[in-house]
Amino acid sequence: MSRIEQEKKTVATMIGLYCHSKHHGKPLCKDCQMLHEYALSRLEHCPFGNQKTFCQACHVHCYKPEMRTKIKEVMRFSGPRLLLYHPVMALKHLHEMRKVKKAGASL
Ligand SMILES: [Zn+2]
Repeated sequence: MSRIEQEKKTVATMIGLYCHSKHHGKPLCKDCQMLHEYALSRLEHCPFGNQKTFCQACHVHCYKPEMRTKIKEVMRFSGPRLLLYHPVMALKHLHEMRKVKKAGASL
């Protein structure tokens, strides 16, 4: 699976966990559906494509402010839960995040 595909899956899972707990979305409420579509379109148009190291570092810089606030909240909420329900996916994500932090990116 490509990095982009992996990121898409991760972001979909995170938004799903968030919406399900916060908004009782089945699977997603309207707002979260929009956020999800936005996130996917950012991934599709990412200039780094599969070359880039890690999307979250990139997300927060290429999202427009309101979407950026939302996705940050989703990540904060779903990050720990992802570890619980999807440990393999979460560990991959954390691993990528550490690489970026080491490289000096600010999240
Ligand atoms: Zn929602």
